[in-house]
Amino acid sequence: MEQAIIIRYCEIHLKGKNRGHFEKLLKENIKRSLKGLKYTFTAMHSRYLIEDFNDADYEIITDKLKKIPGIHTFSKALVVPNDFEEIFLAAKSLCENKSGTFKVITNRADKNFSPNSMQTSMLLGSRLLEVFGDRLKVDVKNPDFSVNADIREDGKTFVYTDTVHCLSGMPVGSAGKGLLLISGGIDSPVAGYMMAKRGMKLDCIHFHSFPYTGEAAKEKVKELTKKIGEYNGGINLYVVSFTHIQEAIHKNCPEEFMITLMRRFMMRIAERLAESNGDQAIITGESLGQVASQTIESITSSNSVVKMPVLRPLIAFDKIDIIEISRKIDTYETSILPYEDCCTVFLPKFPAIKPNIEKVKKAEDKLDVEGLISEALNSVEKYEF
Ligand code: ATP
Ligand code: MG
Repeated sequence: MEQAIIIRYCEIHLKGKNRGHFEKLLKENIKRSLKGLKYTFTAMHSRYLIEDFNDADYEIITDKLKKIPGIHTFSKALVVPNDFEEIFLAAKSLCENKSGTFKVITNRADKNFSPNSMQTSMLLGSRLLEVFGDRLKVDVKNPDFSVNADIREDGKTFVYTDTVHCLSGMPVGSAGKGLLLISGGIDSPVAGYMMAKRGMKLDCIHFHSFPYTGEAAKEKVKELTKKIGEYNGGINLYVVSFTHIQEAIHKNCPEEFMITLMRRFMMRIAERLAESNGDQAIITGESLGQVASQTIESITSSNSVVKMPVLRPLIAFDKIDIIEISRKIDTYETSILPYEDCCTVFLPKFPAIKPNIEKVKKAEDKLDVEGLISEALNSVEKYEF
């Protein structure tokens, strides 16, 4: 029997006049993701169809669909001619390994097909009970699964039982571009994923402090970036050398402001890079109160050096919930590998938890802020995934 994958999308419905634009983006994103595989693609009303694929590629295709923001669900369907007996045989083969309660849902776009939808459902149900009556029962109110028959005008009927839930969200490219500050930790990759799911195209920036942080730390960030890229139709990573900035702060400024000042440099550099790349926002993995540098006073201090919006999708998340998402998107195991982050180099014993902005500015006056920023921006290495 022929097979097809029915893809359904979600919030796109809500977009009124923009709908065409969103559908086009999602279609392009699916095609980019399935590049190199054999299949045919058809757009139908509110759905896409993948047909003529190799059976052996089914898992590969569906693994990719599960990572595309904007896809709500998909179902693997058997495709048969609009003929009751054929529909029954397809339904029978799908119920072979099933038990529990079910109902039949018939959708009859082909109005020449007889019997009508209601009668088809009833007939199909009773024929299935004849075969599987020992382990299947009908429950139209709260069934364990449904047997669906979509009888289409073009002479094809799609029969399916299972629906797989995907990411939902919005197609990547529908919500502008942002620059993610990515560390090797748990939080920032999750923050990137959250924005990708809302349709934002991402670039990533990582601050590296060679030789204080080694090659392994950089490799880890590359690995994490690549994983986020799977949800983003590919991604670019910019690695910036942070060593001289940290050394300058360490040498010239009060120890308690080390992290506060580092954050301000990171923000300024990120904003410059974002501007030159056409990114419209800066994204961080901060979560309120998680560590000393994530108090509202610290956030105020780092926000005050940039004009661009700073998005913090995890600001109100508990660590336990962030970890759950990181497991789901398969970044957790990489994130917990031991590594040094530039933030752990020159870590003060008693960091300022509520940094006083005037004192911070006074400490910063000891530094050649512009010179250090330009030097860092000249050190950028780019990686494409
Ligand atoms: P994460 O798990 O993302 O590392 P964290 O809980 O360790 O976060 P911090 O070290 O305070 O928190 O960092 C806060 C945010 O600052 C990070 O989520 C990330 O967005 C950014 N950040 C921290 N270190 C770096 C770095 N080396 N390069 C780029 N961004 C960084
Ligand atoms: Mg960290």
